[in-house]
Amino acid sequence: MVNLDVIVSLAKRRGFLWRSSDIYGGLSGAWDFGPMGVELARNIKQLWWKKFIQERDDMYGIDASILMNARTWEASGHIEGFHDPLVECKKCKRRFRADQAQDQCPECGGALTKERQFNMMFETRVGAVEDSASITYLRPETAQGMFVNFKNILDAFHPLIPFGIGQTGKAFRNEITPKDFIFRIREFEQMEIEYFVREKEWETYFNHWKSEMWAWIENIGLARSRVHELEVPSNERAHYSRRTIDFEYDFPFGRQELYGLAYRADFDLRQHSKASGVELQYFNEGSGERFYPHVIEPTFGVERTVLALLCDAYKEDVLGGDARVYLALKPHLAPVQAAVFPLLRNNKSLVSKARAVYKDIKKAVPQMMWDDNGNIGKRYRRQDEIGTPWCITIDHQTLDDDTVTIRDRDSGEQKRVHIHEVSLFIKEEK
Ligand code: ATP
Repeated sequence: MVNLDVIVSLAKRRGFLWRSSDIYGGLSGAWDFGPMGVELARNIKQLWWKKFIQERDDMYGIDASILMNARTWEASGHIEGFHDPLVECKKCKRRFRADQAQDQCPECGGALTKERQFNMMFETRVGAVEDSASITYLRPETAQGMFVNFKNILDAFHPLIPFGIGQTGKAFRNEITPKDFIFRIREFEQMEIEYFVREKEWETYFNHWKSEMWAWIENIGLARSRVHELEVPSNERAHYSRRTIDFEYDFPFGRQELYGLAYRADFDLRQHSKASGVELQYFNEGSGERFYPHVIEPTFGVERTVLALLCDAYKEDVLGGDARVYLALKPHLAPVQAAVFPLLRNNKSLVSKARAVYKDIKKAVPQMMWDDNGNIGKRYRRQDEIGTPWCITIDHQTLDDDTVTIRDRDSGEQKRVHIHEVSLFIKEEK
């Protein structure tokens, strides 16, 4: 497995990820996506949306606000229970999650204070009045947006059970020790589903979503052998969960949670019914039955997906006698799908032909890059490092017969194709 520093450096050099507000020394637990990172992250989110919302008839997509009425977090149990155990070093004053520091400070060896509970929600104030009623929180999970909109979905669409609500969006957690690049951060994005079922069917749908999550892992191209299911023991589960499976990935810093699958029972709908006074039972008009549906929750982190993909796709080999680095990303996720090069940047006919080919292919393949900087070898190396599956070169022969070379990222092999076939080739291959 590749060293994490190698990934961090490649991500910075090639415009995937930068420290937030870097010129001011950064902000712990916050990262910015650069032009390559944002394309990769968007491809992941779009694929997720297509697969889990658009292609299914039993799913409803929403986009709930990040700021919610604070009573949401009382009812969900987050104000009371969204804690991590915190210890502080008496000598250097650094703070750690209790399970990450045993007896002595891992930094200076100093003695630690007693464990206390630290709530991980970011508190903020809404409006100009500074009283306790104005306090709310940046959401620590997107899930509650689905529960508070449950009745809206029922009223507007009258779905038959089972059905689900899904969304992608930012979540914020004041993690005690953000670390391991973008693995544990304070501002991140989740892709979550709340799937509502009858109690007696919970296990069937738990298994259904487990296999859907494996299918997703396959879709994005992570090596199956590096992903492992962990049955989370009851004393380690979240307060709402009756069963949880973590999907763990072999990151360079160890085996850690990538995704989660939880059985939340009817905890949330009951809690919100009680707290809001709004009835959130499901009513079946045909049979007259009324009940609180049970919930299966598959949850995916965007940044952890990006990190796992960068680590998984990272390859080094020797091609044509030269050592190189490339990202073997699946073409449909690669930030750039194809790059177009004029063989020589100072040859007018080659450049204008290449521009025309570039413009033409861009109509069908939007994620394209133009590159005429440095020699061809350098351009290939740059594209390899961002995972571009195909490089298209316009050379002297193109001027005679309208054919170009297409070079394959993984094998380095080139073939000649007519310019009219290029878009089709790319579409078929990805
Ligand atoms: P961990 O045990 O690693 O703190 P968790 O069990 O608290 O994670 P969940 O509450 O299940 O995580 O969150 C759902 C998903 O959101 C996780 O599977 C992960 O992909 C992502 N996630 C959670 N916390 C973070 C974080 N601090 N940084 C980046 N992604 C996160």
